[in-house]
Amino acid sequence: MFNALHPTASGSRFRISYEFFPPKTPEMETQLWESVKRLEALQPHFVSVTYGAGGSTRERTHHIVARIARETKMKPAAHLTCVSASRAEIDAIIKDYWDAGVRHIVALRGDPPGGVGTPFMPNPLGYPTSTHLVRGIKSIADFEISVSTYPEGHPESANIEQDLDALESKIDAGATRAITQFFFDNDIYFRFLDRARARGITIPIVPGIMPIRNFRQVAGFAQKAGASVPRWLAERFEGLEDDSETRALVAATTAVEQVMGLARAGVEEFHFYTNNRADMVFAICHLLGVRPVREKADA
Ligand code: FAD
Repeated sequence: MFNALHPTASGSRFRISYEFFPPKTPEMETQLWESVKRLEALQPHFVSVTYGAGGSTRERTHHIVARIARETKMKPAAHLTCVSASRAEIDAIIKDYWDAGVRHIVALRGDPPGGVGTPFMPNPLGYPTSTHLVRGIKSIADFEISVSTYPEGHPESANIEQDLDALESKIDAGATRAITQFFFDNDIYFRFLDRARARGITIPIVPGIMPIRNFRQVAGFAQKAGASVPRWLAERFEGLEDDSETRALVAATTAVEQVMGLARAGVEEFHFYTNNRADMVFAICHLLGVRPVREKADA
């Protein structure tokens, strides 16, 4: 069923990126680097590293991004938010990235320090919106800048048009790629894409794919992030709370179906929320025909 896209292992038309988060423990750190190494073989377009809420992972994000730049062949992208920092502090981080050889930033406003649902109060000395941050980054150095976008609307937006306004202003400020919040119903993405294209937005709007490792956790996250969880998806995971093996198989099948559905409709770029784990994402990429380079050489 799936091999219709890529009958051979020789090359792929797909452009892939992977997202990691800064680990908290030495065990999680080991897992992160194992995953980074495994996914490096697939030659992603870039790999990004998130920035903890409120800037809580500032040093750890920098450490991982700089190490990827130093020790791998991959191009790292550092996430950066406006939260809880002055413009001078953020500008210093941006300059440090440039000095470390990093050329790509995922620029975000960030969640309100009081938590999702509370009003966002910008630091009076900071960047008030993601648009200001994008402009600030561009004024420091010629970084490539990716930004977020929300096919189902950001929780603080009154409607999708407001999200498209925000996206347009981020593009005007210098962003050249949008990565979507995760979604599980591909029609939502296509409708959003149509609306964006109808407004003349031409930059890539790359679908963010979230393989589901822990359904309850993802459902909770989705509720805060303004992403809907279809009933059929909840039903797929029903009764599997104590069966991690079956859960993993259902999760992989679900993510593969979603990605193949997008690919069949012409999507060629994917951003994977890896949760610092390579296995499922590696399998999805394999089915897309994205294979380790050594395999291509042998073919
Ligand atoms: P924005 O585009 O800034 O939009 C937020 C709200 O403000 C929307 O309602 C929008 O309509 C409005 N708005 C935007 N611009 C303007 C403007 N110029 N004037 C008035 N209103 C405006 N969070 C982290 O803490 N760290 C991360 O590393 C991180 N990575 C992420 C990666 C991706 C791909 C995505 C989709 C989200 C990520 N987030 C991250 C979450 C994000 O920080 C939150 O969703 C946050 O609430 C919004 O920031 P934003 O830049 O995504 O949204």
